[in-house]
Amino acid sequence: MLTLNKFYIDGAWVDPASDATMPIMNPATEAQIGTVSMGSSEDVDRAVAAAKRAFETFSMTTKDERLALLKKLRVATEARLGDLAKAMTAEMGAPATMSLGVQADAGLGHLDHFITALETLNEEEILYNSDIISHEPIGVCGLITPWNWPINQIALKVVPALATGATCVLKPSEHTPMSAQIYAEIVDAAGYPAGVFNLVQGDGMSVGSAMSRHPDIDMMSFTGSTRAGTAVSKDAADTVKRVTLELGGKSPNLVFADADLDKRIKESVAGCFYNTGQSCNAPTRLLVERSCYDEVLEIAKSVALAQEVGDPTQEGDHIGPLFDKIQYDRVQAMIQMGIDEGARVLVGGLGRPDGIEKGWFVKPTIFCDVDHDMRISREEIFGPVLVITAFDTEQDAIRMANDTEYGLAAYVQTSDPERAARVVRQLRAGTIQINGRGPDYGSPFGGYKQSGNGREGGMLGLEDYLEVKVRPPFVA
Ligand code: NAD
Repeated sequence: MLTLNKFYIDGAWVDPASDATMPIMNPATEAQIGTVSMGSSEDVDRAVAAAKRAFETFSMTTKDERLALLKKLRVATEARLGDLAKAMTAEMGAPATMSLGVQADAGLGHLDHFITALETLNEEEILYNSDIISHEPIGVCGLITPWNWPINQIALKVVPALATGATCVLKPSEHTPMSAQIYAEIVDAAGYPAGVFNLVQGDGMSVGSAMSRHPDIDMMSFTGSTRAGTAVSKDAADTVKRVTLELGGKSPNLVFADADLDKRIKESVAGCFYNTGQSCNAPTRLLVERSCYDEVLEIAKSVALAQEVGDPTQEGDHIGPLFDKIQYDRVQAMIQMGIDEGARVLVGGLGRPDGIEKGWFVKPTIFCDVDHDMRISREEIFGPVLVITAFDTEQDAIRMANDTEYGLAAYVQTSDPERAARVVRQLRAGTIQINGRGPDYGSPFGGYKQSGNGREGGMLGLEDYLEVKVRPPFVA
């Protein structure tokens, strides 16, 4: 049994202020695999004080010094990829192959592109009127991350803070403390000065809220649900700190009859089920041109029936369990709601997949004949549940795609480049994928509307952590 009973503050592993703990659960076995100490506002105060002290000197480092540290961080991350992957498999059920190849690898992918972005960043620029603009680290950053892509989200926040000369306090999801603890060990091994990076484990109501309200935190970067993102914004308002938010989504996937249906639908359905449907940008609403609707249902059904679900410790391209009982119950309730609303279950449905008795596994599920106004079409389900709705015209499809409070991602399947350009221009979403190709590491990731504000990754991801100072040219 693992015991995570220290926080990383001011360059050392220290005892938490309180004795409170929470069990760490394995979602595939339902067994407790460890305990994690839960932080309090006292731990936050201590971590913020360390980060504030460290900012005085770290903010004055040169770009070359920070690039050299980031390269050490890369070596340290690469050495622990296997450990990160195993931790995520155990704590949130990511299947072994994708946990190493995608979940852990994201720690390197984002880092590489932040290094390139920092190399090309102009820290000082001359404005057209001869004034000089400098881009300076914002200060102490509070970073809050979710459980579904644990290291991806941590790298998207910690690395740009370290790259720009800001200092930070990380509060990972209380459900995925193991990978975060390893990430703190990685930062420690890279040799960052004491206080530049701090880790406090704990929940949102105590640690997260104490961070958002803290007068000495200059910026909050939050990824998680829209509900919690709103709470962070409200808590942060009194101290007028910068708040960037990466929130939920209900991303539309527009399928036109001229697309290569076999290939595009197979990828689309697999994309919805990937990470057991627990991705903020998953293509969860398939909007299908009526003339190819029946054909699409056939293909989608065959993909869902072939989707293997199983033990995440095994290699392969199966999907694992949902991360926790909370999520299992939530997804079951949403499936029941779809049934009650009168949508047709094309495949899947309530309960665990046949032959699986234990663990938070669910059946890959597709609802068809879904009315756009049904709740399963409007609310984020966060499980392997796809809803399919027919449309008659391009304008109809665009209207339904945009008729959502979210705007994180949108997907388009068509063989017609002019149609693709025309449709993409009208979609209100931060990330677009066309015919299976999406943006790469280094491109900005973020949403319109209630999917958030700010962008993560690459150059725009660095800019979120920078303040702007302007001065005239020196005259004696
Ligand atoms: P969540 O909002 O429950 O928790 C996310 C984090 O916020 C956790 O660390 C949690 O402890 C903390 N938190 C909760 N309440 C808080 C509060 N009042 N103040 C401060 N912190 C608080 O979300 P989750 O269930 O961990 O993650 C799933 C959600 O995250 C989904 O909605 C998903 O779409 C979203 N998400 C978005 C992105 C993106 O980049 N847009 C990426 C991944 C996940």
